[in-house]
Amino acid sequence: MKNKRNTSSYYIDGILEGDKFVLSKAITLVESSLKDDIQLSIRILRGVSSQAKSSKRIGITGVPGVGKSTFIESFGTYLIGQGKKIAVLAIDPSSNLSGGSILGDKTRMNSLSRNEQAFIRPSPTRNTLGGVTNHTRENILLCEAAGYDTIIVETVGVGQSETLVRGMVDFFLLLMLPGAGDDLQGIKKGIMEMADGILINKADGQNLQKAKQAMTDYKNALHLFSKASSGWSPQVKICSALENTGIEQAWGMIADHHQLMSENGSLDKLRKEQNLAWFKEQIAHTLIGHIFANDENLRARNQLEQEVLSGKLSPKEAIVQLTEQLFGQDSFKSQK
Ligand code: GDP
Repeated sequence: MKNKRNTSSYYIDGILEGDKFVLSKAITLVESSLKDDIQLSIRILRGVSSQAKSSKRIGITGVPGVGKSTFIESFGTYLIGQGKKIAVLAIDPSSNLSGGSILGDKTRMNSLSRNEQAFIRPSPTRNTLGGVTNHTRENILLCEAAGYDTIIVETVGVGQSETLVRGMVDFFLLLMLPGAGDDLQGIKKGIMEMADGILINKADGQNLQKAKQAMTDYKNALHLFSKASSGWSPQVKICSALENTGIEQAWGMIADHHQLMSENGSLDKLRKEQNLAWFKEQIAHTLIGHIFANDENLRARNQLEQEVLSGKLSPKEAIVQLTEQLFGQDSFKSQK
């Protein structure tokens, strides 16, 4: 008898019923690099995609210690109180580089992770950042099919993961600390430009005044950026994830953005553009993987890498040689 775990309908039915166990298993398949798993995951994704409901996709970033997990716990619990279902997915570039994780997956968001209406999935490791983000995009679709109407993608404010997360969410939220507005807290200005909203956390106790001052500073700084074509002007708010204040206002900002973007067609446009960008990224990712899965091609590449390293060939000469070895002598000429 065929093991039912190996059939796509087992996964598709389970996901559509909102079964968390099956959803977790399906995500593991999506993240697998085994050929059989990849084929099964393609069938699952195809099976659920026609059923996928739309959700609000929110990216959250900020330096370690700013309060991301405390905020998500408090924000998620608030939303569940409003009748929503929350999925939290993480992208942690550090976990891919060192095997260690800045987001410290296991112990975070304790009460949310025990909530029936929440699903929390840590960052996949052992992969390139590009690979991880491709998986996260697919995981968003699986979570939507399982009925999660608010998807949070969390990342740390270091490395290039912000740009990748920006490319898969509707609203990009930057968490900041009070009182350190002058030096941008190690967050590059580029990340501020990507944000749809800035939330200054830890606005409590002695920090409340500082947080209000930082809000004014950031509002002024945001005025310097040009307005997005969607018609949305980025907002700055304060909150205390610890004391549960400002959480409703944070959600209000995201809901206003969603309403504006839905009504003026910008959300539809954004998601179509994101899909196209995803496809383009996938072309490079998939083709490169395919080409170098072949031993001979991989050897040729390794050999040329050594020659570039030793200075025997320039990178450009090596690319010409590699292209000719892979696609024939005339392949480079025909591109001219
Ligand atoms: P993350 O690394 O960004 O996920 O940050 P955490 O959520 O782990 O929080 C880092 C530290 O800041 C913890 O000790 C939290 O208790 C504390 N913290 C988080 N949010 C607040 C807040 O709103 N106010 C105060 N005073 N402390 C907070």
